Amino acid sequence: MRKWEENVKKVVPYTPGEQPQKKGIIKLNTNECPYPPSPLVEKKIKEMAYEDLRLYPEFPEKTQLAAELAAYHQVSEEEIFIGVGSDDVLSMAFLTFFQAGKPILFPDITYSFYDVWADVYGIPFQTKALAEDFTINPEDYLADNGGVIFPNPNAPTGTLLCLEDVEKIVAANQDVVVIVDEAYIDFGGISALPLLKKYENLLVVRTFSKSRAMAGARIGYAVGSAKLISYLNNVKYSVNSYTMNRPSLELGVEAVKDDAYFKEICGRIIATRTRTEERLKSLGFTFPKSYGNFIFAAHREVKAGYIFEKLKEYDIYVRHWEKERISNYLRITIGTDEEMDALFRALREIIK
Ligand SMILES: *Cc1c(COP(=O)(O)O)cnc(C)c1O
Repeated sequence: MRKWEENVKKVVPYTPGEQPQKKGIIKLNTNECPYPPSPLVEKKIKEMAYEDLRLYPEFPEKTQLAAELAAYHQVSEEEIFIGVGSDDVLSMAFLTFFQAGKPILFPDITYSFYDVWADVYGIPFQTKALAEDFTINPEDYLADNGGVIFPNPNAPTGTLLCLEDVEKIVAANQDVVVIVDEAYIDFGGISALPLLKKYENLLVVRTFSKSRAMAGARIGYAVGSAKLISYLNNVKYSVNSYTMNRPSLELGVEAVKDDAYFKEICGRIIATRTRTEERLKSLGFTFPKSYGNFIFAAHREVKAGYIFEKLKEYDIYVRHWEKERISNYLRITIGTDEEMDALFRALREIIK
């Protein structure tokens, strides 16, 4: 190693699912929505003045998007923080709230970005093993700690923690910040948002990437007490003052306005998920009941790694991790009914 390299920050980055450039593939590997964004978003794109790009954007919390989200969740604009996807929101929240010097807690099997942020920001952490059936045991999060974060529903398992258990964790941890990452809450879960009235140390994080079909726009947000949000903004504006691009801020507004469309596509995905569960079962797969737009499944006989590679030969991409406890599982995003039909045609041949 050269001398200068000794003074370089060395981290192992997060690896997202592949984004193959090949046309015509069936992409069930990164939990994107298989349907387009709201038609209002399409209309807005066509009307948008390209001249607007000349100007810097406004601070996100001063925009119409913040106003729309505040109205949507019946909170004030001071209780909304907007970032470049929820990854940005979560990253800023780690940097802002997890400074106790004590280990923060999260599940052993969860969103694999959490340990990356902890490492890059030098935050000590401790993971808590999920139960055999992949559920979170709330008792694990009641001991002294530097903060708590978990997704609900959890990823990549899809399991849901009931609101009473979420409250148990928040109530027991009022000396630290508790972050609930609700990336998948719109697919049938019960949100922790109502708890915000009681707990000023709770931060609920949401994204437009999954249920609102706008992963490419990079819009995420957090809802929390005005105090929590102001601390978050102070850190955010110490890193980058123009955080969100103007087009995304404008398009996000249209997506929030079209609640009917939003509910319709979530309903369609939930219906396809139910059908997918039945068919996976009939093929010999087992999985925890999913509350996300994906299913985390293992086959009784055929190894997940083999199925994962074979599916690629059919141009079907799912997600697989070579990681302890979950190496025999595949995370399969719920696509359209037609995409799931193609998946089952392939699975039937691979498994027989
Ligand atoms: C997808 C995902 C995110 C990040 O989504 P963004 O596209 O950055 O908004 C955050 N948390 C979990 C659990 C996710 O699955």
